[in-house]
Amino acid sequence: MTQNRYVDTRGSVSVGVPFTEAVIEGLAPGGGLFVPEHIPAFSLEEIVSLASLPYAQRAARVYKAFDIDLPDEEVDALMADAYGDNFDTADICPVVSLDEKTHILELWHGPTSAFKDMALQCLPRFFAASAKHLREQGKIGHEFLILVATSGDTGKAALEGFRDQEGVKIAVMYPDGGVSDIQYKQMATQEGDNVMVWGVRGNFDDCQTGAKAVFGDEAFNDRLMEERKIALSSANSINWGRLLPQVVYYLSSYAMLVAQGKLEAGQELDVCVPTGNFGNILAAYYAKRMGAPIGMLFCASNENRVLTDFINTGVYDISDREFVLTPSPSMDILVSSNLERQLFELTGRDAEAIKGWMEDLKREKRFQVDKETFAQMRELYASDSVDSATCLETIRKVFEETGYLLDPHTAVAFEAAQRLRGENPVLVASTAHWAKFGEAVYRALHGIDLQDALPEAVSALTGCQLNNLIQRETGASEVPAGLARLDAMTVRFTDVIEGDTDAIERAVLAFCAQ
Ligand SMILES: *Cc1c(COP(=O)(O)O)cnc(C)c1O
Repeated sequence: MTQNRYVDTRGSVSVGVPFTEAVIEGLAPGGGLFVPEHIPAFSLEEIVSLASLPYAQRAARVYKAFDIDLPDEEVDALMADAYGDNFDTADICPVVSLDEKTHILELWHGPTSAFKDMALQCLPRFFAASAKHLREQGKIGHEFLILVATSGDTGKAALEGFRDQEGVKIAVMYPDGGVSDIQYKQMATQEGDNVMVWGVRGNFDDCQTGAKAVFGDEAFNDRLMEERKIALSSANSINWGRLLPQVVYYLSSYAMLVAQGKLEAGQELDVCVPTGNFGNILAAYYAKRMGAPIGMLFCASNENRVLTDFINTGVYDISDREFVLTPSPSMDILVSSNLERQLFELTGRDAEAIKGWMEDLKREKRFQVDKETFAQMRELYASDSVDSATCLETIRKVFEETGYLLDPHTAVAFEAAQRLRGENPVLVASTAHWAKFGEAVYRALHGIDLQDALPEAVSALTGCQLNNLIQRETGASEVPAGLARLDAMTVRFTDVIEGDTDAIERAVLAFCAQ
């Protein structure tokens, strides 16, 4: 059997590496992103038949189709562990239908109540297994520090996934003051012996840029290896091991909709995704490539609409763009790293073109794709951006009309889907439980504008107390246990650091010395 190997989007990996190495390395040596040489295809029958399997086995089937270099039994065991009773429903990610043609894919039933769990209950287990596998082959003899930049949800999900994994430490950086009270407490109270959390003065892009600089600092990486026998790796959505688990749920939800009689087998389903780093929607693209009858991919942006403008013009331009804080902070992103993979695919895997555009982006803060690539992009994608006021209005309207409570990220996607949809039914990716963003939801339900103050009695509440209030007022289902108990937990991490390379490297060294 020829093994599926991984090449990179900037052409620096001439001989592909196996899955285990792509997962461990995260980013390719030249700064490119790993992609598999072959994308497997599933027949319609194979896709539809996934519905008869438990979710963990659907995931295992997809992984095996990608022909990863771990034994089948191990893949089965890791998946059973990743998608088990750590989720609050046996369906793992159920699809709820608001009407005949509007389906909500609930991706937030994992331990941290955000869709990042779908990937980050899976990746750390495969990471640890891959490291063990490579150690046994004598390819590595060191341990790992996972360094994560987060706009809120990734950090907690990564901490939860990597906590107490052997041979791995994890450090998370989030924008200080740029995450919700609930998100902050989720991270600051993180348990586990191998974890660290830092607030960073700046926004998410500062965190991400800082992390990238540390990854790119060879002298620092050498020093960490010499002094501590530790290599840096990434659990950000640029890691292929983050992306692959996300492909599973698009195949799986198609199968479930057919099994529930809501789709004819083969009927096209459009997919709308609230997009930040372009990982989640890219997974839908790969599911389509694998054979899922997915029609259009709707890319929903908030007021940080760089992707919407790109999809509508072919120009990716952040040279004159203000970073806007919105009620959907996990989409407050200007540099959408995973877009690079999409462009690689659309150009017929032209690493030279990608390298050029990424250099343009670095130098001029903009790039423009060629006509052909743009035309292909337009065939696959449509995009719109939803402003913050409309986002809150959507939460209120959908609740009043259907009794279903959307979180602000999902609301952005829901509204974009209404604007972009045609005849096909639409699957809206729901990426967070509403209780992660209670303040925005409270404002939405009470018609309080974002710039206006909350009533004093309300602003005095903790995130947990506010959620209880919303729950009582709306009769919404119980707040997930992991969120409900946050006030009762001890804050372990309070450090705030600068976002420059030096400051992060000092913090990393101090943590590794512990
Ligand atoms: C991360 C995240 C997104 C954006 O997903 P990408 O894969 O980065 O595009 C959207 N909503 C929520 C709640 C998230 O946590």
